[in-house]
Amino acid sequence: MIIGILKEPVGESRVALLPDSVKNVISWGVSVLVEYGAGAKSYSPDPLYQEAGAEMKSRLEILQASDMVLTINPPSLEEVGRMKPEAVFLGQFNALFNQEFTQSLIQNQRTAFSMELVPRTTRAQSMDVLSSMATVMGYKAVLMAANLLPRFFPMFMTAAGSISPARVLILGAGVAGLQAIATSRRLGATVFAFDVRAAAKEEVLSLGAKFVEVEGAKEDKGAGGYAVEQDEDFLNRQKEAIHEQASKSDIIITTAQIPGRKAPLLVEERTVLAMKPGSVIIDLAASSGGNCALTQPAQTVEVNGVRVVGVDNLAGTLPQDASKMYGKNYLNFLKLIIKDGQLNLNFEDDIVAGTCVCHQGEAVSPRIAQLIN
Ligand code: NAD
Repeated sequence: MIIGILKEPVGESRVALLPDSVKNVISWGVSVLVEYGAGAKSYSPDPLYQEAGAEMKSRLEILQASDMVLTINPPSLEEVGRMKPEAVFLGQFNALFNQEFTQSLIQNQRTAFSMELVPRTTRAQSMDVLSSMATVMGYKAVLMAANLLPRFFPMFMTAAGSISPARVLILGAGVAGLQAIATSRRLGATVFAFDVRAAAKEEVLSLGAKFVEVEGAKEDKGAGGYAVEQDEDFLNRQKEAIHEQASKSDIIITTAQIPGRKAPLLVEERTVLAMKPGSVIIDLAASSGGNCALTQPAQTVEVNGVRVVGVDNLAGTLPQDASKMYGKNYLNFLKLIIKDGQLNLNFEDDIVAGTCVCHQGEAVSPRIAQLIN
């Protein structure tokens, strides 16, 4: 069996597998082809892949020869068409969102897995790329905010006077939000956080932040640990509470997402206008619509001295560790679908079935099947 690793597109610094992970895969009796320069931006040049036992090849050679193609960002449909008909392709293409791409894969009888579909179960935790990348994003969002803020994070008592600690507001205390809380606290800020899941409260408090409660949030135990869409009344009350907190905050980091849907709008334009000049908003939900009304994806806009950063692929700004974590998640997933050096797709396994977008023309993941039918 041949596994091919593609170079990611311009603007992406990560790679699906670093040389150490490639070595691991080769030890299972699999051959690995790597596109020239695939690891360069993660500081893993071609000779390191060769030392690990991989062969360097051109993109076309990899597409045509591989039984399994690994990427993070998906290739174009035209490139998918150049793969062997029975080849399996793995990436992270936001299959519930990019429905046109998903439909084309199904129509073209392809077998594809999309890593954001890995179920949120205890057994699947070691394969959960969303959690890994959210960890990177939560950490980097705070560093980015600290860089932009015209103030210190920690409190200082100096001969030149006292400096009060920065006040950070985190919207959404999931994996990214909790990491943002921990990083802000390490830098000495006072932190407040909101979430709609009651379970988040204890985690927020355990990190030394204050939990801001808005009563009446809807929860669904069947949503696999995720939040569900809230009704208008709740969202309006929540926006009001956020408005009140925002005017006292130096930094807002927003992370609130609903799987497969547009991110909820939590920070209104009037709220941004009520913030102190010099304040910073980092919107980690920018790619799914943004939590702030003024967010522009991949851009920083400034209104009344408040900078609103619509982040784009923040995980890619820490390519070595982000690729290491991604690769580890991939290795754990590949162990489920490769047996004795051969492809072994067992759809009785809930992780394999849950992550498989389609197999030979059929939608497999229950979430994809529900969307298509
Ligand atoms: P996510 O990225 O989908 O959402 C981020 C956060 O935004 C979540 O905490 C969500 O509750 C919150 N949110 C959504 N709408 C909101 C609103 N209107 N206002 C405020 N907050 C809102 O979620 P995530 O961070 O990937 O994961 C959420 C939780 O799922 C985790 O904290 C964890 O408990 C659980 N989880 C479990 C596993 C596992 O068991 N394998 C893996 C990852 C996460």
